[in-house]
Amino acid sequence: MTAQTTQIVQATTTASSTPARTLFINAHIATGQPGSTVAQTAPLQDILAENGRIAAIGEGLASTLAAQGYNMADVEVVDLGGKLVCPPFCDTHLHLDYVFTARKPGAVNESGTLFEGIQRWSDTKSDLTVDEIKSRARKAIAMELRHGVQYIRSHADVTDPNLTSLKALLELKEELKDVVTIQIVSFPQEGMYSYEGPHGESGAELVEEGLRMGADCVGGIPHFEQCREFGEKSMHTVVELASKYDKLIDVHCDETDDPNSRYVELLSALAYRAGIGERTTASHTCSLGSVDNAYFFHLTKLLKAAHINFACAPTENLYLQGRQDTFPKRRGITRVKELTDAGINVSLGQDSMQDPWYPLGNGNMMIILDYVLHVAQMMSFPEIDDALKFLTVNGATTLGMRDNYGVEVGKPANFVVLNADSVFDAVYERCDVIRSVRGGRTLFSAHTVVEGNDEVLDGLLLR
Ligand SMILES: [Zn+2]
Repeated sequence: MTAQTTQIVQATTTASSTPARTLFINAHIATGQPGSTVAQTAPLQDILAENGRIAAIGEGLASTLAAQGYNMADVEVVDLGGKLVCPPFCDTHLHLDYVFTARKPGAVNESGTLFEGIQRWSDTKSDLTVDEIKSRARKAIAMELRHGVQYIRSHADVTDPNLTSLKALLELKEELKDVVTIQIVSFPQEGMYSYEGPHGESGAELVEEGLRMGADCVGGIPHFEQCREFGEKSMHTVVELASKYDKLIDVHCDETDDPNSRYVELLSALAYRAGIGERTTASHTCSLGSVDNAYFFHLTKLLKAAHINFACAPTENLYLQGRQDTFPKRRGITRVKELTDAGINVSLGQDSMQDPWYPLGNGNMMIILDYVLHVAQMMSFPEIDDALKFLTVNGATTLGMRDNYGVEVGKPANFVVLNADSVFDAVYERCDVIRSVRGGRTLFSAHTVVEGNDEVLDGLLLR
């Protein structure tokens, strides 16, 4: 636990409840909408949070409210000091059931490849319990919260006849819903048609059971299946299950340097034909970094028509990919710039925190953003000025949550305050998040105290 987190815990234990109305003054709002980066000279705004939602945004709201008859003695006022305000960060690809298992006996990944990571996990996952998964995941969520994340899509490995990971994450999702929104993917880590459980269960059957238990998304891993036919069959199953149970889709898709791994094509076509492209995400798609341009040119037409989303995990795949190369060594990252330029939605993910696939990862999405801007060579000034979209509105698009997301009147009063005066400075400084507000309540502030004594947050940070 960091010294700063300790301070948060102490503050939490003495804080009083938050008034129903809070007026956040002197906010420099970056909405996160594409192309709407606020210039440094834009007038500062005030944000009124009322009963958990944004009731008003404007200049000099305090005097306006007083004139409207508000009793200002009942309104808590928080001065944001002209710092940058944006919607909370979204981590659209994370494995909460895997966090902090990297040093477990037998889990150390010697080769640094994706496939050894899967094998190490398979070899060491039999002793998992709901309680110990929740304990590790709580620590990871607290770290993500501390870096401004309030929306997480986590995969839960369901290639386990007891579905222990899924049970743990479903409980956490409910217990922590006031501080973080968690979506869960019913994810067959060892394959839909390559895995066979002790009683003959297929991965596909366990994925379906996970959906019946309450998972939000259908997962898949076609490039890991034993043969192309199984991979293709799994893509059909994913789309059929999503349609049958009215779920989102998030597939670990083509996480390999093999340019012949092209399941994103089939996934997109099937989702398009089923009319659920916008509810579909292809995660990783590393092979797009290895295919030739003629193929990508053809594929782009389908991707644009299907409107599927992409989730990129730049640090993870920089580490895992290119392991069969000598030199030149491929980067193993999907085509973030080319997809973005084509109008296709791309969001980002931390993916791992100290697990058999990746030894680092601390939930700081500003680091993830920094990596992707470098590796995708997206560093023109307009691209930097627009970069926070990858952590904010693009993430919410992937999650299918745009209707309730954004610093806009009528939406939930969820936002973060960055220690920067402009988007450029935020990216330039890889700045800290200095306040996170959820439902009008401050979850933490780097400079003052936690306001509100919610037991969930208290417990989250204490464990
Ligand atoms: Zn993953």
